[in-house]
Amino acid sequence: MVVLAPPKRVLIVGSGENGSATALSLIKGPYKNHGHLLTMLDRSAEPPAADAASYDFNKIIRQEYSDEIYARLAHKAMDMWRTPEWQEHYHETGVVVSIAKSAIQGDYIKRALAVNALPGMQTEGKDAYILETAKDVKNVYPDGVELGEFAHQDSYINEAGGWGHSRGAVVDTVRRLREAGVRFIAAEAEELLYGMTNGKLDVRGVRAKNGTSYCADFVMLTMGAWTPKLVPELASKLLPTGQVVGVVKLNREELRRYKNVPVTRTVDNGFYIFPPTVDGIVKCAIHQQGYLNPIGDYKSLPRTILTPGYSKQHIPQEAADALKAGLARVYPELAAKPWFNTRLCWYSDRPSGDWLLDYHPKFPSLFIAAGCCGHAFKFMPILGDLILSSVEGTLPAAQKAIWAYDHQVPSRVDASRTFYKHKSLVGTVEAIVGKQARL
Ligand SMILES: Cc1cc2nc3c(=O)[nH]c(=O)nc-3n(C[C@H](O)[C@H](O)[C@H](O)COP(=O)(O)OP(=O)(O)OC[C@H]3O[C@@H](n4cnc5c(N)ncnc54)[C@H](O)[C@@H]3O)c2cc1C
Repeated sequence: MVVLAPPKRVLIVGSGENGSATALSLIKGPYKNHGHLLTMLDRSAEPPAADAASYDFNKIIRQEYSDEIYARLAHKAMDMWRTPEWQEHYHETGVVVSIAKSAIQGDYIKRALAVNALPGMQTEGKDAYILETAKDVKNVYPDGVELGEFAHQDSYINEAGGWGHSRGAVVDTVRRLREAGVRFIAAEAEELLYGMTNGKLDVRGVRAKNGTSYCADFVMLTMGAWTPKLVPELASKLLPTGQVVGVVKLNREELRRYKNVPVTRTVDNGFYIFPPTVDGIVKCAIHQQGYLNPIGDYKSLPRTILTPGYSKQHIPQEAADALKAGLARVYPELAAKPWFNTRLCWYSDRPSGDWLLDYHPKFPSLFIAAGCCGHAFKFMPILGDLILSSVEGTLPAAQKAIWAYDHQVPSRVDASRTFYKHKSLVGTVEAIVGKQARL
């Protein structure tokens, strides 16, 4: 284990949620008044990069995990989201979950409610309960919002939970880091640099695409879905999977009617949809196994708005159709609107569904915090501390085991996704359906 404290210089590669949350915990803890010893390297001069997973309007914040470790951590993170430090980016709209009666994930609601009923999982003034009839479902949506067939399926609401503005939270954290003297560099890391520590080969820093070398006493990789580019041995263990996202824009009258809807998830098709932002942006997406983009020896690497030839954020036509079908099942009126934007957003997927927060087994000065598996944003207010605990070796044993580089514990994979297979972007019919190039 490394004692991470001044005068050690730390290089953090990637300034999305993971990198910025880690640096925030460092400047609040051992690096208080020593922000100048931290360097953040990102492809973007204004992190997060436009194609990062963190660069987004909204992410679901919820505590429904069948796994008690994540459920309790999510509950703790939600308490933090409600504090003055984070509340600007948190909207506690409640989360409705619905599932078709015939679905294979049929016991989802029972399991979710069982977790919500565990001691310590309640939130004062917020209830979690089954919506028995279509009328009960209708009652948690504002008048004037037409609901689709999901309202006739098994549903429940947890009033605790809602959504967070992920880009806003990261941009705000980056601002705080800059104010604390943390150095930001816009460059793309291309390879690791090596040296010797106590006679053992170790990582010393990175060389950027522009040829410049950046060295430090401790190197942390927080590069999300791009992590395998620097550590190719993780190409399958941190698999980049493209998940489809669509955005429609409401006019003023629609915004007035929809502004108080809860987050809605239809678990059996992985579809979820957010309330509108103040600008009338409504985002929806599908949480399934996603698309692979095979390149050379890599099973998949992200293909994004910054990939030459894809600046219009193409998505497979079948994915655009699936998004529309999901939208029609929740809000038929909005399904008739044109897409404002679409996008492939890249998860860093671990087969077990657990994050990777651990040292590289061969290099004592290299730590990796990636493998979001599409569910880590909600933990942002506590994630940096979890990462530092892992660096310091103070994580509880159960957490250490699930986030270990060599995952040896039974899989706690997200069961709602296991019913789908990966699809490939190769050979798909592409659609450019959004009017706007950028989200
Ligand atoms: C479609 C989608 C929906 C999601 N929904 C939810 C949700 O509802 N709830 C939830 O809790 N979580 C959700 N997540 C997960 C959440 O977005 C991630 O946990 C979080 O954004 C991961 O942050 P990160 O810092 O690991 O990666 P990123 O945000 O991708 O940041 C990685 C950073 O590394 C930089 N970088 C990459 N390569 C290099 C390089 N070579 N050199 C320098 N810099 C580099 C990039 O520029 C980028 O800024 C979702 C993710 C996606 C993709």
